[in-house]
Amino acid sequence: MSTTALLLVVPCYNEQEVLHETTAQLTALLQKMQQAAEIGSYKILYVDDGSKDATWSLIEQLAAQHAEVGGLKLAHNVGHQQALWAGLEWGANSTFDAIVSIDADLQDDIEAIRAMVQQYQAGYEIVYGVRKERKTDTAFKKHTAQLFYKLMSSLGGEVVYNHADFRLMSRRTLQSLVAHPERNLFLRGMVCSLGYRSTSVYYDRKERFAGESKYPLSKMLNFAIDGITSFSVKPLRLITLFGMLFILVAILAIGYALYAFAIGHTIPGWTSLLISLWFIGGAILTAIGVIGEYIGKIYKEVKRRPRYFIEKAHNLD
Ligand code: UDP
Ligand code: MG
Repeated sequence: MSTTALLLVVPCYNEQEVLHETTAQLTALLQKMQQAAEIGSYKILYVDDGSKDATWSLIEQLAAQHAEVGGLKLAHNVGHQQALWAGLEWGANSTFDAIVSIDADLQDDIEAIRAMVQQYQAGYEIVYGVRKERKTDTAFKKHTAQLFYKLMSSLGGEVVYNHADFRLMSRRTLQSLVAHPERNLFLRGMVCSLGYRSTSVYYDRKERFAGESKYPLSKMLNFAIDGITSFSVKPLRLITLFGMLFILVAILAIGYALYAFAIGHTIPGWTSLLISLWFIGGAILTAIGVIGEYIGKIYKEVKRRPRYFIEKAHNLD
């Protein structure tokens, strides 16, 4: 007989097509777990991330039907990571023992929640949901994701391979997480850096059953750049190395030019000059761009803006 109180945090942005089905599937699973005495009590917390469709009224409606469904309505669309944070912060201040975060479209196998709870009860405080394969992804998404993980780990960022934001955390580890003051959130990296006893459960990721992805390529790219620059200052060092390399090349080029002049060769013409001009120009711009990345981050952090505003809460203590 387990008394584990389980909270599910589900960020939702324009998810009116999926919420009925999601609630049906989640409550069915959680009731089953309760009957099997795998958990004591449970709650599903939907965080409406400033949706423009009927998501919030649907959440209110679902909360009226199910005592275990609650909702937080954010006043503005703040993005998946910040919306998830809003829910997690609520969880950290609640009395729930274990908190699972999962996407509203249920692309992640909800049965894995069972395995996560088992691992929690076996003494693990953080349980990562890890995708077995990327069968349902396009080749493009698969390869860019792999590239991202490789880049991230070679730059010294700690991440669990093929783990997104489907995970279980104990309330204690969540309290450690929400103690982080930073505004640039890359949750999967931050959670890894917490420590604590952790393990993984493996599952197959499905396709979205309704609605469309709220993560177009542009958002994915932003997310990847954010992830890397939130965790590593190595790109900064790389600039210095590149700079030194270019100086070396320039010295060699000057030596060659003097030598060519001395033996009476005329300089062939524009081409080499123009190429090097463009090349150096490009290199300088890239370097400035990378520095700009970090300055942009500092700018965002020093503003210390509140992360979100809760406009309404429904069915929550
Ligand atoms: N989401 C959010 N705010 C946003 C974008 C997305 O809360 O600005 C939520 C969305 O409702 C979903 C989760 O984040 O529950 C993941 O989004 P999605 O499934 O569209 O991403 P994908 O699985 O395609 O990467
Ligand atoms: Mg999805």
